[in-house]
Amino acid sequence: MKITKVCCQGCGADLEVNEDIRFVNCNYCGAKLEVVHDSTTTHTRVLAKLEKQSEEMAGDLKVIRLQNELEKLDREWERETQGYMVTSRNGHRSVPSTGGSVVGGVGAIIFAVIWMSLAGSMGAPTPFVMFGLLFIGIAIFGMAKSSSKAGAYQNGLSKMNERRAKLIREIEEAKR
Ligand SMILES: [Zn+2]
Repeated sequence: MKITKVCCQGCGADLEVNEDIRFVNCNYCGAKLEVVHDSTTTHTRVLAKLEKQSEEMAGDLKVIRLQNELEKLDREWERETQGYMVTSRNGHRSVPSTGGSVVGGVGAIIFAVIWMSLAGSMGAPTPFVMFGLLFIGIAIFGMAKSSSKAGAYQNGLSKMNERRAKLIREIEEAKR
């Protein structure tokens, strides 16, 4: 067994290899090398270049796959958002907010109470006055429904953002 010194074509490091060995991995840069014995010298040829290229390609494919996933996530969320939307009285569709639904509900209840006391003071028949209670009930129901929708929306939004951040992190890692 004869040890011979060769220079890594990948990084220039001096390597000691067994002369009988044809393939070797560089300890320094990890390149896969072929040890070539010429009549005069022994040198190395990098074999790993091709492999490195395909590694890069695999990395690119991973980035593309992750970017597609990100786009899909955005599309899905867009669709999901439509399900959370509420239509306001003026026909404007928007995502519900807990604050907004409480303000709307409380406003409706105050309106109903004022209406009831006005109707009562003007001597309206009792069933007519009691109609205000029904209105209050509807307002409370609407408030509860809309704030639970707002809660579900917030929940979905934070879950989506988490998945999004994770995908973006993965893309950044794959790009390296
Ligand atoms: Zn090397």
